[in-house]
Amino acid sequence: MNYDAGQGWHDARIVPYGDLSLSPAAMCLHYGQEIFEGLKAYRTADGSVQLFRPQENFKRMNNSAERMVIPKIKEEDMLYALKTLVKMEQDWVPHTEGASLYIRPFIIAVDPYVGVKPADHYLFIIILSPSGAYYSTGLNPVKIYVENKYVRAVRGGTGFAKTAANYAISLAGQEEAHEQDYEQVLWLDGVERKYVEEVGSMNIFFVIDGEVVTPQLLGSVLPGITRKSAIEICKKKGYKVSERKISIEEIAEAYDNGKLDEVFGTGTAAVISPVGHLKWGDKVMEINNNKIGPVSQMLYDTMTGIQWGKIPDEFGWIVKID
Ligand code: PMP
Repeated sequence: MNYDAGQGWHDARIVPYGDLSLSPAAMCLHYGQEIFEGLKAYRTADGSVQLFRPQENFKRMNNSAERMVIPKIKEEDMLYALKTLVKMEQDWVPHTEGASLYIRPFIIAVDPYVGVKPADHYLFIIILSPSGAYYSTGLNPVKIYVENKYVRAVRGGTGFAKTAANYAISLAGQEEAHEQDYEQVLWLDGVERKYVEEVGSMNIFFVIDGEVVTPQLLGSVLPGITRKSAIEICKKKGYKVSERKISIEEIAEAYDNGKLDEVFGTGTAAVISPVGHLKWGDKVMEINNNKIGPVSQMLYDTMTGIQWGKIPDEFGWIVKID
């Protein structure tokens, strides 16, 4: 679908996958005026296809649009477009358990213009790709590394928006983590370098002395849909959940006192990703003997159970493609 100033969004269409024709001066290539989303379509045991909370993705997309001065699209129009596309291409949703169809909606500024200003012309595109099971050998705990040198986001910046630059600036920290044989970076806040924020492409949770704790959303963390769902499930199951500031010192102290029960990440790709090792400077914390803990397992089973239609959706999260 195209946007032209004065005309608004128009010309929604479905075309075969192929290269785009863009001017080398297209503004998105130079000034990063771009936003995107990521969600999945799942095949259920009875063969039907369904989406998990797609309205939340489109709500977040419009929040990102506002921050990046990109014209919004009505959430119901984006949902209609997505449902139409997935219905048409539903043979691409894999039948293999755990596999899914990954969906990537995005908007780019396409004006050929050299100079910093909001564009007048945009493209909204949705691409689809089958993706294999994230865990082929069970829920293996990941190793994460507290980043001290670089920051990902600051308050007042773009941390809460899903925009390309947030990912580009995270690459150097990620490379550093890989050099030390760690898989992902745990980002600290950009001001005091003290409070934990999120991990690579996941939000982070801690179970401290039986309580489920996750950093509150203060503008520098992406409001993950899996995060929101995990909080709702934990509350429904009777866990005490708090969204608050958590310093890395508090995590280390809980670990030293034997009270750091579990650490896990949440995100569309992995759903729940247990953390087995957490490195902060010279300190390496091995969490729950590098095994998945009960809260992580319960969340994984509940969330994937709903996504794959194996357990009833008591939250009303599923949107069926029919
Ligand atoms: N944080 C970042 C930076 C991400 O890219 C993602 C993945 N979208 C998440 C958190 C998790 O968000 P969600 O649960 O909506 O996938």
